[in-house]
Amino acid sequence: MVEGIKEEGTIQNIVEQGFCIGCGTCVALCPKDALSIVECKNTGTYIPRLEYSKCNKCGFCLRICPGTEPNFDELNLIAFGQKTRNHLVGNYIKSYSGYSTDQNLRYNSTSGGLIPALSIFALENGIVDGVLTTRATDKKPLRPNPFIARTKEEIISALGSRYCPVSANFAIKDILKNEGRYILIGLPCHIQGERKAQAINNELKKRIQLIFGLVCNHTPTFHATNFLLKKFKIPIESIAKIDYRSRGWPGGLRILMDDYSEHFIPFSSSYYWGYVFQNFFWPKRCLVCNDKLCQLADIIFMDAWLPKFSSDKSGLSLIVIRSKKGEELIQKAIKKGVVKLQPISVSDVMQSQHILMTVRRVVARRFALNYSSKEFSSTGILPQRPELTPSFLDLLDAYHLIFVNKFCRNNSMLMQLIIDFHVKLWDFARSVKKKATKV
Ligand SMILES: Cc1cc2nc3c(=O)[nH]c(=O)nc-3n(C[C@H](O)[C@H](O)[C@H](O)COP(=O)(O)OP(=O)(O)OC[C@H]3O[C@@H](n4cnc5c(N)ncnc54)[C@H](O)[C@@H]3O)c2cc1C
Ligand code: SF4
Ligand code: SF4
Repeated sequence: MVEGIKEEGTIQNIVEQGFCIGCGTCVALCPKDALSIVECKNTGTYIPRLEYSKCNKCGFCLRICPGTEPNFDELNLIAFGQKTRNHLVGNYIKSYSGYSTDQNLRYNSTSGGLIPALSIFALENGIVDGVLTTRATDKKPLRPNPFIARTKEEIISALGSRYCPVSANFAIKDILKNEGRYILIGLPCHIQGERKAQAINNELKKRIQLIFGLVCNHTPTFHATNFLLKKFKIPIESIAKIDYRSRGWPGGLRILMDDYSEHFIPFSSSYYWGYVFQNFFWPKRCLVCNDKLCQLADIIFMDAWLPKFSSDKSGLSLIVIRSKKGEELIQKAIKKGVVKLQPISVSDVMQSQHILMTVRRVVARRFALNYSSKEFSSTGILPQRPELTPSFLDLLDAYHLIFVNKFCRNNSMLMQLIIDFHVKLWDFARSVKKKATKV
């Protein structure tokens, strides 16, 4: 990733350096059909496989790959008609907190159900013909795949966050094959790839009308879910369905078995997002990602991680609208009573995502990687401001994260012992803190 890496015609270099996030953009758009997506058992991520006999080294894949740092100013100009005005938040028009007025959608989605509600509204009102979204099937409950949803039922089949690799842009192939107007839903890196592709493919620019972006801190590798299932002694081969964020907000991991029995692991469990998913099983690309707030989407969606909303268990999202097209859709949906929204300040949005700390930690991780492996030569778009200078603790966190993720990539016995040790320490620290606050 970023400018330090030599560009040699194909994405092979990106993959070898570990900066491929498996987004699928290159596979969907290669003019020679020379790429396919495969699962890398070692890293627990998707990577493209290059068929050398078909490749003519045209360099198209490399130009659209989000493994090299995008030029955010240039892509903002193409997407929104202006360069980035605020490098921390990106361009924006308005921000809101809110939810879908359909209680089922609200309760069964990750946060406020706004993504499915707006997708269904756009489909049913002829604003678009299809929505690129992601779902898991009965045959492969642990490997969600992207597809084009064309009905309300199909949108509902794709509810919820998936905390595992997803090659969302692979389905751009179907958008190119079938004329029409589309919404694309994806993570910031997916959308970087898509915007890069739109910049050089006019048909794609015409067909993709709106982009919905999920705010993203990182995507755990497939090893994370495997680890969790093993820890709770849940046999993978008997799983019928897995919902990463079920039962209201913040909910938890619900696993439905073939015999209709269920397991539930709360979101805050130390073996889930309480500790392990926060600290282990990071793909290398996520360690250096500086686009948590998804600068290039028309509307971004996130959980409402603010104390004033913590008592709401039905689900609430925060959104930031970046484009006029996004704003038009939201106003129409409010008017029809599809969503309920309240204005909220952008500084509240930043606070909910700990943006200053996130940026400091990305700077620290880039520094740590540069220092140890000379992989980076740039800090990309990150502004040079005193409050963004990493502290000693940020650096410690960076080195720790890089270390444990470099040496603990799989599910070996050693890795399990290391994680158990960390979780015990973490639980002990939490109980001491709890006792201290009571006194
Ligand atoms: C990997 C990941 C990390 C996230 N990190 C944060 C964070 O740090 N802070 C925060 O506030 N929110 C984060 N979110 C976003 C949050 O979890 C919700 O997705 C968001 O609030 C929208 O919820 P919703 O109820 O409107 O829609 P939902 O019903 O949750 O719909 C989500 C939509 O996104 C699609 N989708 C789900 N997972 C993926 C995926 N991995 N790749 C591509 N498409 C996907 C689904 O198919 C669906 O269409 C993250 C989401 C993911 C998937
Ligand atoms: S375009 Fe996506 S899948 Fe292809 S090499 Fe780049 S990051 Fe990997
Ligand atoms: S942290 Fe960045 S690179 Fe990683 S999944 Fe999220 S958007 Fe993609």
